[in-house]
Amino acid sequence: MPGSARFTIETPLGPVPVQSRRCPACDAANTDVPGGPYSRPPWLIKTCPSCEFVYLDPVPLHEALNDTLSWEKSRESENRRRASERPRTYRLSQIFRKRNRIFGRRNIAELVERRSRPGNIVDIGCAEGGPALSLGPGSVPYGIEISSGLAAAANERFAARGGRCVNASALEGLRSFPDAFFAGAMMRSYLEHEVQPKEVLTELARTLEPRGAVIVKVPNYGSLNRRVTGYKWCGFRFPDHVNYFTVQSLGKMAEESGFSVDFGPFGAIPTSDNMWATLRRR
Ligand SMILES: [Zn+2]
Repeated sequence: MPGSARFTIETPLGPVPVQSRRCPACDAANTDVPGGPYSRPPWLIKTCPSCEFVYLDPVPLHEALNDTLSWEKSRESENRRRASERPRTYRLSQIFRKRNRIFGRRNIAELVERRSRPGNIVDIGCAEGGPALSLGPGSVPYGIEISSGLAAAANERFAARGGRCVNASALEGLRSFPDAFFAGAMMRSYLEHEVQPKEVLTELARTLEPRGAVIVKVPNYGSLNRRVTGYKWCGFRFPDHVNYFTVQSLGKMAEESGFSVDFGPFGAIPTSDNMWATLRRR
């Protein structure tokens, strides 16, 4: 985000370099817009007055994600916070998460293969390999991962199948691939972490072949659970989740980035905390 103000804030994990943020959907400055009721100062959750997109401001700089706030460390501290805030529902959600992980991994690889032609499939934010490892023999797994340790592990695994993992931010990583290189893509629990979601989607559209499919899974800010449980909703993660999508805001951003959007009959159920969409390059 060129031109955004940078400063440092203190967190329980140490000092974190951050930058202020314009609306990631419509680029409104929103400097004077106050944080809404779900904010945890200094982390504000703003609703853009111009386009209603819900987002975190400020956001940690990328280098902080590799260091003080590395995913492994901040996950641990978030888990501790949640366990102390609501022990019973937390344990239950861990059980559901474990179950969902088993289904989720298999499903996203299957879904993207069912909806794409055989070829190169990229997993954005692939961690140590994740669901791309269960792609069938018609697919070559590729990944982009910002954590260097995880990217090295994924690269070794993907290389054994003719692919590779790029250690970079999603935007930089995608820029290193030629036009129409990928037949399909996966974004599972990724887009809510991305500081530049619209730029990444636009760049992803360039690297996909026409009609190439992207399977997206993100928390659904419009879910019934968020409305009922309020600030205790499991979709809030500070400062990891920087975008809070609804069916409308995800659809609009994807369309403006060059995709058609399909949630299908089960992709956006109000009682589910997450939503699934298939984006198809126009
Ligand atoms: Zn906006």
